[in-house]
Amino acid sequence: MRIGCPREIKNREYRVGLTPESAGELVMHGHEVWIETCAGEGIGAFDDSYRERGARVIDTAEEIFAECEMIVKVKEPQAEEIARLREGQVLYTYLHLAPDPKQTEGLVKSGATCIAYETVTGRRGGLPLLTPMSQVAGRMSIQAGATALEKAHGGRGVLLGGVPGVMPGKVVIIGGGVVGFNAAQMSAGLGADTVIMDLDPTVLEKVGTHFEARASTRFASRANVEESVAEADLVVGAVLVPGAAAPKLVSRDMLKTMKPGAVLVDVAIDQGGCFETSKATTHDDPTYVIDDIVHYCVANMPGAVSRTSTYALNNVTLPHALRIADLGWKQAMSLDPHLAQGLNVHAGRVTYPAVARELGYDL
Ligand code: NAD
Repeated sequence: MRIGCPREIKNREYRVGLTPESAGELVMHGHEVWIETCAGEGIGAFDDSYRERGARVIDTAEEIFAECEMIVKVKEPQAEEIARLREGQVLYTYLHLAPDPKQTEGLVKSGATCIAYETVTGRRGGLPLLTPMSQVAGRMSIQAGATALEKAHGGRGVLLGGVPGVMPGKVVIIGGGVVGFNAAQMSAGLGADTVIMDLDPTVLEKVGTHFEARASTRFASRANVEESVAEADLVVGAVLVPGAAAPKLVSRDMLKTMKPGAVLVDVAIDQGGCFETSKATTHDDPTYVIDDIVHYCVANMPGAVSRTSTYALNNVTLPHALRIADLGWKQAMSLDPHLAQGLNVHAGRVTYPAVARELGYDL
């Protein structure tokens, strides 16, 4: 199969669909890989590193879309990319169609077969092609919070790990799923006083067993959240209610009970945010202050660490890409019902029930 990987064109997207190593692996399986020139620059992978692994470097995205049977990307296709998709072509990327009727309509019209990373399921449940980005965001949340806590960045001048003779900072993580667990690993690793809050007793048990004395767990009742937030130097919002907007767990009134210069990092901002005062920010201008509390609410945190994120993403996307290329998407899906869950649009129809329901398409 001829597989194409265009340069990402969404604003400030530095990741790339295929690393040079992934391209090389597809080539070893007997496939042709066409990569757009400079596609890997944002992760420090230059054209020669793709050429060395047998990929062909192509000058324009137009050629790639026109000639390749499968397109591998990171972000949902932008309007000019949708216009280039064609019937029978496979698109393999993040799509997030439910809130995006315009993109969905474009993909339906294209006649292409569109496989969404975010709906592929895993053998042990969950959404394994989303997990690495939650891991990245969770780990970054402590790094971002630690920086925001510095005096020059508006914070209260607290070093999370403390030093001998001075108490460490207090970190409260609301939500103990993938983001929360990874945030706790960084926080506990730094030596901060770490509390993980969740409503799900199985999550609390899992996290408690893992961290033992290095972190505490607390049931996320309203009263407990109020008390913990008031004592915190850094609060990380990491909750998810699947298919719904994030619940607002920290109200504006609660900010007044917090220590001036404390920091809120709202990782759940991509679902509307779990703090009442959250509004999405960008890597260019990541923080703002309300009632003396510093807010960090970047909606695409993994984009800042494009190299790590690309490699983490390729670890989970490449095995499916290889099977689709080796067997064709139909046979690959008939052998793997989890990959089949990724099919969102095919031959002019929406095939993913939740998207069809949300946007009013017949299945
Ligand atoms: P997850 O499903 O693994 O974990 C969510 C946790 O929240 C679960 O343990 C659940 O029990 C808990 N929860 C739900 N409601 C709660 C409540 N009221 N109080 C306390 N806990 C509650 O999800 P995840 O992968 O950790 O993702 C968390 C959020 O981070 C999602 O909104 C996700 O989209 C977002 N995210 C953002 C970025 C970014 O760049 N900003 C990147 C990756 C993920």
